[in-house]
Amino acid sequence: MSRYSKQRIFLGREADALLRTKRVAVVGLGALGSVIAPWLARAGVGHLTLIDRDLVERSNLQRQLLYTEDDLGQPKAEVAMARLSRANPEIGLQAMVADLTSGNTRELLSGFDLICDGTDNFEARFLINDMAILTGTPWIYTGAIGAEGVVWPICPPHTPCLRCLIEEPPAFGDVDTCDTAGVLGPAVGVIASWASMEALKILTGKAPARKLVRFNLWEDERQILHPPKSRCPYCTAKITEFLDSRWTMKASELCGLEGVQIRVNPPGRLDFDALQPRLEARSGREWKQRGMTLKGYEGAWDITLFRDGRALIHGAITPERARSWYTEVVGC
Ligand SMILES: [Zn+2]
Repeated sequence: MSRYSKQRIFLGREADALLRTKRVAVVGLGALGSVIAPWLARAGVGHLTLIDRDLVERSNLQRQLLYTEDDLGQPKAEVAMARLSRANPEIGLQAMVADLTSGNTRELLSGFDLICDGTDNFEARFLINDMAILTGTPWIYTGAIGAEGVVWPICPPHTPCLRCLIEEPPAFGDVDTCDTAGVLGPAVGVIASWASMEALKILTGKAPARKLVRFNLWEDERQILHPPKSRCPYCTAKITEFLDSRWTMKASELCGLEGVQIRVNPPGRLDFDALQPRLEARSGREWKQRGMTLKGYEGAWDITLFRDGRALIHGAITPERARSWYTEVVGC
């Protein structure tokens, strides 16, 4: 029996073979991506690019099925790729430890048949939506929080886009996050599996659901919502405001934790060998390189620098102070 024999009985030989020719990007490998990526890998999607900026943390293990205790501190994209290559060694896999910004989205998300949203933030989703508008690539908007979630396949130019539904990203603090509302693993699993089904439909040429589905799995509720009837000016005229936005550095307070995250655009490539002695001289303490990260302390700040230029500073620090620390140390 071949690897795909059971799925071929259902899909038919032709549709199943079509999957081997497809290229899919999974953006975000948290709880959603931990379910979406394995379903697509095991179904034999020809190529998967796995994009995530984060490292595996202990608080992820409750729901992020790709990871174990052994992976703590490792980049999620790399761990995911290693795991999926053992689940299905016959497909192409690529791991990108990257933060999606306007400066790299065109490069990172070009040449795919489908983009799956496993992210937890609207900044990334609006970038994906712009890329979909620009290139006509289908994507599946997927979100989960608490025991609730939404799935909506968006196939420009044939369907309304995310901005037809929500014109602008909600302001920071206006939406619940996993840090404020919590999240239950099985609920995310249902939502991510629902999104994976829509992915299989799109990839095999069956029309995806045209409606938005919203679940509340704690209250046993499912709503099927019609997308907006009128189209926004952005997808109508292919205006890609988020892809076109120019910024060089953002410093924002960490959600649910004391500290600041610094992101740079376009992402760069830090020279850890050059930075390490400078950081050690400043702080009078030893810093450690490990793969994609350089970690150490300066005073009470617990600092992680990433190769792509990001920095996480845990401790009592304001975004302004973090920004000037970064400029002093890394330059910008
Ligand atoms: Zn639109």
